[in-house]
Amino acid sequence: MIQRLLVANRGEIAVRIIRTCKKLGIESVAVYSEADADALHVHLADQAVCIGKAPASKSYLNQENIISAAIGTNCEAIHPGFGFLSEDASFAALVESCGLTFIGPRSSVIESMGDKSRAKQLMKEANVPLVPGSSGEVSLEEGKQLAEDIGYPILIKASAGGGGRGMRIVKRRDQFEQQFDAAKQEAQAAFSSDGVYIEKFVENPRHIEVQVLGDKYGNAVHVGTRDCSIQRRNQKVLEEAPANIDASLEAQMYEASLNAVKAVGYENAGTIEYIVSDDAFYFIEMNTRIQVEHPISEMISGIDLIEEQLCIASGEAIRHTQEDITFNGHAIELRINAEDPKQDFRPSPGTIGLLHIPQGLGIRFDSPVYPGYQVPPHYDSMIGKLIAHGYSRDDAIAKLRAALEELIVSGVTTNQFFHMMILMNPSFIKGNVSTAYIENQLEALLDYET
Ligand code: ADP
Repeated sequence: MIQRLLVANRGEIAVRIIRTCKKLGIESVAVYSEADADALHVHLADQAVCIGKAPASKSYLNQENIISAAIGTNCEAIHPGFGFLSEDASFAALVESCGLTFIGPRSSVIESMGDKSRAKQLMKEANVPLVPGSSGEVSLEEGKQLAEDIGYPILIKASAGGGGRGMRIVKRRDQFEQQFDAAKQEAQAAFSSDGVYIEKFVENPRHIEVQVLGDKYGNAVHVGTRDCSIQRRNQKVLEEAPANIDASLEAQMYEASLNAVKAVGYENAGTIEYIVSDDAFYFIEMNTRIQVEHPISEMISGIDLIEEQLCIASGEAIRHTQEDITFNGHAIELRINAEDPKQDFRPSPGTIGLLHIPQGLGIRFDSPVYPGYQVPPHYDSMIGKLIAHGYSRDDAIAKLRAALEELIVSGVTTNQFFHMMILMNPSFIKGNVSTAYIENQLEALLDYET
């Protein structure tokens, strides 16, 4: 087993990883920017190294400084968390070339899955169903022709895309050219690469994903499904596990996902994302890292996914067989953000005043905040994840409502009330959700008094 690990991240995921290190007796080294000198992950780790100024490009994305910190503190391995360098194949390759262990798949796998049009090709070969669309990047003329063939509406997506950027819906033929140019420009600005591909736009789908684990001995298991349909501008807001889907559809999704893992020789934890519509499912992407919403899978399976990551990266076989992995009840996660939904979800950095964290059977709050903590303006606005595990979906909703009512975070504006409106919303309670849910219900969800 790894003896000493550098955690190349911040916020709740850095804290989360350090906690599992403590459990396993692994020494942890935190890295931090000048803005994070007083962050919880810095205090919890056995050692901490400042890696640069506040902007992420100077610190959490600074590959050389992170590698130097790892070597200088005698770490054998680096856990990238999510975001930042977690899906940067060049970073994973640098870690490998320095003789360190990257907690994730091989850099070559990150590279192939990171290029979304290439990933689709690989998935096609592995018999994973794809959304109808181009088989790779397209030129304007090819794109136009293909859009005619598959029928509007269509989506233009950036090959290097992520976080919903570089993605454009085209509803009618006469908008194609303008949206194509806009998508290319946005992709170039965000990812320094303007390659785009085309997909049929599936209306009102559900976003359902499968958590997978693979090891270097060719073993692959799934750790269930998650429904992440509650999204705003393609960013997840609330996630549930398991996804409530027909058993035969679920079985097909598991089979496709395990085929995918085996086809690319995937090692470590990963997620295969699909959109689901009318009992058909289509691959959209594979995330080659731990996901924000991993705790809900942990709650229903009892498996510590960070522990699995560390064991697999240490060269162990997956500790569970598929038969061992059973699911119990239902879990829901709310992303608590320092933002103001009533001001178009504008970030609300500031200093935490009062903080009261709810407790109770099946309640978990993964967060780096404490009273007096300053939420820096430089990074994303998520300040915690409130998770409830119930014996049923209704029970999980009831527990979450009670916990949310009790949660007090003062000093910053949060999306706490917005979440309560979702939990009280009749469509949500019935499980009647799609990726268009927030957009369709926005007025009702914002109708609260603070
Ligand atoms: P990104 O990597 O930028 O997050 P994804 O491919 O994962 O992009 O898609 C993000 C979200 O966009 C999905 O969860 C889904 O809501 C929506 N989406 C993606 N592809 C399609 C599609 N072909 N039709 C309809 N919605 C889609």
